[in-house]
Amino acid sequence: MTISDNLQTIGQSIRAAEEKYRRAPNSVQLLAVSKRHKNAAIQEALASGQTAFGENYAQEMLTKAEQLATSNSSQKIDWHFIGPLQSNKTRQIAATAQWVHTVDRLKIARRLSDQKPEQRPDINICLQVNISGEASKSGIEPEALPELASQIAELPGLQLRGLMAIPAVSDVFEQQREVFAKLRELQEELIKNGLALDTLSMGMSGDMEAAIAEGATIVRIGTAIFGQRDR
Ligand SMILES: *Cc1c(COP(=O)(O)O)cnc(C)c1O
Repeated sequence: MTISDNLQTIGQSIRAAEEKYRRAPNSVQLLAVSKRHKNAAIQEALASGQTAFGENYAQEMLTKAEQLATSNSSQKIDWHFIGPLQSNKTRQIAATAQWVHTVDRLKIARRLSDQKPEQRPDINICLQVNISGEASKSGIEPEALPELASQIAELPGLQLRGLMAIPAVSDVFEQQREVFAKLRELQEELIKNGLALDTLSMGMSGDMEAAIAEGATIVRIGTAIFGQRDR
């Protein structure tokens, strides 16, 4: 299977899940997670019409963005940063990413807001929530979410778009759904409190259908598009 075949297959699965769970047609966007894959793989996906790419490491995203901007790829890429965020990396991210999915602290959001170059459009932000309650996972605790969300919504240069989560791995469909439902409910509460949010970033290669069933608007897919990562 080529990358192009995989993209087509996943696109069909997404459309089928939208229909099955009565989601609006084309309400789920595919984010191709290209971390640790080469630019040639990204270019192959670009040639098949995929324009949104996710990266976990700030320097890797920056390098790829620079290289691909100077090669003659005709399509414009939207870069989504989906990795752990350290404050010494915010400047690179603010210079490159259209989206940051992993904000979980006010300090990081303030730096992105301050460091975004003036000529760039606002950065789209998702708040990462520690939805499975694991001590080791990053993400804000659900109890602390409303305050953080209202603070970040005020920052210039950022557009708070919604929530993101990486749940504990489960092979059981109903368990996967339950966790994604929690994220959706947290988002619904924030909306009730007056925030205009439209994005739920949830679902990876192993739990995409459950995420779509519970309202995902962005699914982040790596392995099922690009194959196994070698590191
Ligand atoms: C790597 C990664 C993905 C993609 O995972 P796959 O299982 O390869 O589809 C999605 N989201 C985040 C945050 C990741 O780090």
